[in-house]
Amino acid sequence: MKHIGRLNLKPENVFYYFEQIAAIPHGSRNTKAISDYLVSFAREQGLEYYQDASNNVILIQEATAGYENAEPIIIQGHMDMVCEKESDCDIDFEKDGLNLYVDGDFLKAERTTLGGDDGIAIAYALAILADEEIAHPRLEVVITVDEEIGMLGAESIDLSMLKGHKMLNIDSDIEGHFLTSCAGGMTVETTLPVSYMTQRGLPFTLTVAGLEGGHSGSEIDKEHGNANIVMGRVLKYLSDRGELGIAALEGGLKDNAIPRECRADILVPAEQKERTVSSLQEIEKILQKEYEASEKSLRIDVSVGEERELPVLSYTSMTKVLFYLRCVPDGVQHRSMALPGLVETSLNNGIMRLTEESFQMTSSLRSSVSTRKEELREKLEYLAEFLGGEIQVSGDYPAWEYRADSEIRNRIRAVYEDLFGETPVFEAIHAGLECGILSDKIADLDCVSFGPNNYDIHTPKERLSISSTERVWKLLVEFLRRS
Ligand SMILES: [Zn+2]
Repeated sequence: MKHIGRLNLKPENVFYYFEQIAAIPHGSRNTKAISDYLVSFAREQGLEYYQDASNNVILIQEATAGYENAEPIIIQGHMDMVCEKESDCDIDFEKDGLNLYVDGDFLKAERTTLGGDDGIAIAYALAILADEEIAHPRLEVVITVDEEIGMLGAESIDLSMLKGHKMLNIDSDIEGHFLTSCAGGMTVETTLPVSYMTQRGLPFTLTVAGLEGGHSGSEIDKEHGNANIVMGRVLKYLSDRGELGIAALEGGLKDNAIPRECRADILVPAEQKERTVSSLQEIEKILQKEYEASEKSLRIDVSVGEERELPVLSYTSMTKVLFYLRCVPDGVQHRSMALPGLVETSLNNGIMRLTEESFQMTSSLRSSVSTRKEELREKLEYLAEFLGGEIQVSGDYPAWEYRADSEIRNRIRAVYEDLFGETPVFEAIHAGLECGILSDKIADLDCVSFGPNNYDIHTPKERLSISSTERVWKLLVEFLRRS
């Protein structure tokens, strides 16, 4: 059946379903409605379907005539999107759909993320399933929830009903670049117990600000400053040059975002005011010089209050916190020697907090080599234990390892070259994809990840190329026809 969306874009069915999806709120953890929509689609089309308690959905369509003996193909993507909006936008992501519009070759949403990541995967899948004219082997469409908040759906989904071992993951955003492997990861939360004492002095609020930040996987190679680690450097610099008390520490918002800002409330003896101010100017200059190329706007904002009494970390606790911040590994740890340019192992010390009982750091670890990930975890554990603290691990997921021999890769390469007369790029990424977790659940999984050009994902500037969406659609349909 052919449907035409309100925006009248081509390929018709793909954009019709994309518009349908965009009208249903579907941020991470808010997936019931979109999941039910997929189920009602399956009922209308008479498909075999599965919906689990987490809202994951699997849709199965048998092979078209002549393809009964072809190997089944799994098409995979995630139904949840990252909900970001401009500060003056009053959309309620819990209840409201997105306002789509066209700007030249781009499909965008009015002042919000578009959800092209990964709505386009669902739109492609539904467009294929709804079209009687597309020839294909048995299709097993796996649509997960909550990929964006730790691949929770992929973690919980039962795939025992699948017959396929070949998978197309449609969750990449550069046309012509096919992913063949990705890093594994885990979140490590370090806790160091602390105690306080009351002291009199001049309170300073320091803010390390103006840093670029970025995604802790795909942008860790840019050597941007980590505001938490930079703050550790600033505080140690001060403590080497005078008396110092630490009253508060707070930096970073997400474990997978490189922290752009960190705040510390400190206390110094009133007579050391001038010396503290000049030390801060010195270290600010040093840092600006060191980060000249990667951070154009790094600065330390300083405000000074009235002399008073404040609870600050005991001397022992402060020493431990400073020791931790100066010694904890951060950023790129290893680069791949096999695949030039690829970061192999890294960590991002993303969220730092100081509470009444403890100092806490949440770190995101990644590696395409599982033993290297373990080695890094061990290092953090050793450091924490040495300082009388402990670590807790969560969200541990495996890498999607490169297959030297991949039939699906060879097949999609041939189709791509025939259609577009160009050689596609096959590459690995230093970020997570669901393929890692799914390759643990599907025996001998042969997989490739791709998608149309979609820029500035996870931001209100997200924009999906309409022409690229059409080319990738042709690739997909032709790939299935030749299966
Ligand atoms: Zn995605």
